Amino acid sequence: MTTTAFSSLALTPELLANIQSLEYEVMTPIQAQSLPAILKGKDLLAQAKTGSGKTAAFAIGILHKLEPQTYRTQALVLCPTRELAEQVSKEIRRLARAIPNTNILTLCGGKPIGPQLASLERNPHVVVGTPGRILKHLQKDTLKLAGLKMLVLDEADRMLDMGFHEDIMRIIDITPRQRQTLLFSATYPDEIKGISDAIQNDPIDIRVQSLHDNTIIKQVFYEIQKGERTTTLVALLQHYRPESSVVFCNRKQQCQELAETLWQQGFHALALHGDLEQKERDQVLVQFANKSSSILIATDVAARGLDIKDLQAVINFELSPDPQIHIHRIGRTGRAGNEGLALSVFMASEAAKVNAIEEYQKCPVRIDKTTSLKTRDNFRLSPPMVTLCINGGRKNKVRAGDILGALTANTNLPGKQIGKIDIFDNLAYVAVERPIAKQALKILSEGKIKGRKFRVRKLR
Ligand code: AMP
Repeated sequence: MTTTAFSSLALTPELLANIQSLEYEVMTPIQAQSLPAILKGKDLLAQAKTGSGKTAAFAIGILHKLEPQTYRTQALVLCPTRELAEQVSKEIRRLARAIPNTNILTLCGGKPIGPQLASLERNPHVVVGTPGRILKHLQKDTLKLAGLKMLVLDEADRMLDMGFHEDIMRIIDITPRQRQTLLFSATYPDEIKGISDAIQNDPIDIRVQSLHDNTIIKQVFYEIQKGERTTTLVALLQHYRPESSVVFCNRKQQCQELAETLWQQGFHALALHGDLEQKERDQVLVQFANKSSSILIATDVAARGLDIKDLQAVINFELSPDPQIHIHRIGRTGRAGNEGLALSVFMASEAAKVNAIEEYQKCPVRIDKTTSLKTRDNFRLSPPMVTLCINGGRKNKVRAGDILGALTANTNLPGKQIGKIDIFDNLAYVAVERPIAKQALKILSEGKIKGRKFRVRKLR
């Protein structure tokens, strides 16, 4: 039996105390199974999904091995997307609070290179980034890996889906042969096994049970006829009325079209797909996370790495041809002990996909009739919040407290009606409760933030 207390690990008292201060009481299954081997320096091939605690597993491994007095890059984490890289850096930083002077740097594409060069001159201990940009820095010799001890590939399957195979192999060619390599992947296609064989040394193989407990995720399938997909989706939204849901499509064009159709029917839906510019993508994620949009329509690649709490429903507008991806999709709901809802529509011609899912999860699926759905005409699903976008951000020294202050000082707006505030380099977003949106917009547009006037608009 594996023990689940962090204290069973040979970690420094500081790191243990910090883990405790983060209220990580016991290890998650992936941590309990992988950390003893990681701390011993073994290579690891692990199947684990977002939400399993995999980031902390490798972050603790990195920090355990790190020599803070040695100013060289000792660990490199490759991630498929900027969002994931940022989340990973955040988790490593949180865990590194116990170790003074650790320098963790995120290097992602879509960001100017100048500031990255300046940060690299300070010889970060840990670098987290996306393969394209990391390779660019290696080729320019601005990132040096001669002192690398640990390499982590996070969500390796997605990096392959996104066409990073070649970049990853070129990066690995530049790393020292004497290193520890941890490979995390949600699915295990042959290509992953191939990469593992090529770059790892006798890895321990861990597969954390990725099937979800049916008592926590209620999964229902609906058989539809040709041409009924969209009407059934609307019926599902009307019947279940999820406060927040992610709707999965297999193709990116479909995301945008479907979002438009849902808008016309009175739903606040936003599309998230690979054709969005980074700024648009940030905006969509902000609106969804701060509850000013209730439906996110996404492809698998675009939804990767999203760490959205309290997702009430996942809806498969189209079934994935891969049952592992299906299980991964629906695993986004029902986190942290809340019951989740996973709804899927399929046509008789797709029965093979449904069978594959049943076989994979070793349990038959429940199929309900669409006629059991209670629909209502003129039904609208309005999110509780509205997002205001301010034309100034970190570079203008705008902080969350300044925005909150501008909204509540000398006004009768109570702070509790103001939601999440997100600050980016040149923009800031503040969520406010829907009924006060007009008033909040007026206050911010007519007043000042930190003594300066900014342009403010309400996002649709
Ligand atoms: P991940 O799978 O790495 O995306 O982690 C999912 C979430 O679980 C993150 O918000 C972590 O901060 C949190 N977490 C990681 N390890 C633990 C733990 N042992 N106990 C409680 N929460 C954890």
